[in-house]
Amino acid sequence: MNIPRLSCSLLSAFILFSSCDEDAAKYKEPQLSGYVDRFIEQASLHGQDVSADKWTVEFGEVEGNFCGVAEDLKVIISEDCWNKMPESGREALMFHELGHALLGRSHKNERLPNGDFASLMTEDPTMLYSAYTPLKRLYYFEELFNESTSPPVWSLPKTNATVIFKDTIKLDNGWQFKLSGSPNHSQSINSSVFVSPSSSLQITSAGTGSGYSYWTYFIIPENIPEGTPVDVRVKIKTEHLNGDGANIIVRGDVAGDNLPAFVYSTHETTSMVGTDDFVEYGVKYPTSRTSSIDSVSSSYYPAIVRGRFTSMMSK
Ligand SMILES: [Zn+2]
Repeated sequence: MNIPRLSCSLLSAFILFSSCDEDAAKYKEPQLSGYVDRFIEQASLHGQDVSADKWTVEFGEVEGNFCGVAEDLKVIISEDCWNKMPESGREALMFHELGHALLGRSHKNERLPNGDFASLMTEDPTMLYSAYTPLKRLYYFEELFNESTSPPVWSLPKTNATVIFKDTIKLDNGWQFKLSGSPNHSQSINSSVFVSPSSSLQITSAGTGSGYSYWTYFIIPENIPEGTPVDVRVKIKTEHLNGDGANIIVRGDVAGDNLPAFVYSTHETTSMVGTDDFVEYGVKYPTSRTSSIDSVSSSYYPAIVRGRFTSMMSK
C-alpha cells in the first residue's frame, strides 16, 4: 500500500512543478505576470472564465505614443511609461491591454454623465482612477467585464455648486511668479487694475524673449466627493498681448509622489490674445458634455491630494 501512495505523491509533485514552469514561460515578464493573474481572478469574480494560456506579457518597444499594445498573442508594455506611473496607472494599463487580449474588447471613448470616460477601454486609461478613488476602480472593473454596466452614482451630474476656494488677491498673498526660459517678462501686484478684489496679478513684457512666465498657487482641496467636477475660473484682462497668448492650467499631483501630474487641464477653446477688458475664463474637469468649456486637454478628475492651480494674467 505504501508504494503506490508514494508514487502518487511524487507524480503530483511533478505535475505541480511542471505547471509552475509553464506559467512562468507563458506570461514571461515577472513584473507583469501578477497583473494577468489579477485580471483572471477579477474576470472570475464577474462571472467570466478567461484564459491567458496563449499570451505572453513583456516589456518592449511600443510604436507611436502608446504605453502598451496587445497583438499577435503578445502584450507589450513600454518600460519607460511603466516606470513613470503609479500603481493604479500600471494596473489600468494592464487591464486595458488584457481587455483587448483576453476579452476581445475594442476601444470605447464614451463618457459618463459627469464627463469621465465610461470605460477602461478608452484610449488612455492610466489616470481614470487612483488609490484615492476606490469607487471608480470598482466601477471600471465592473464595466470591463460587463459592458452594459449602468453609470455609477458618483458619475451622475452634480447640480449644486460649492465654492471650495475663492481668492481675493490681497497685496500680501500666496501666489508665486515663475519664469521658464527667458521670456523677458516681469511681474507685479497691481492695486489700481482689478475686478472685485483690491488688486490683481500682473505680468508685463518688455519685448522679445523666449519661454513663458506664470503665476501659480497651491491649494489642497478637501471634502470633494469622488467624481465631482472641479471648475476653476479666472478673470483676465489683456493689452496688446500676442504670440501664444495666455492660458489657464490646472494640475493635480499626488502628495509625496514624484510622478507626473495626475491631472493636467488647460483651457484651449478661447484664444487670450489682443486687448480686452476683464473676461472670465475657466477650466473644468472632467469635461461635462453640457459645459461650454469642453476642450480641455485632459478630462480626468482625480481625488486630488495636492492640486497646483496655476493662472496667468497678462496686461
Ligand atoms: Zn487599447
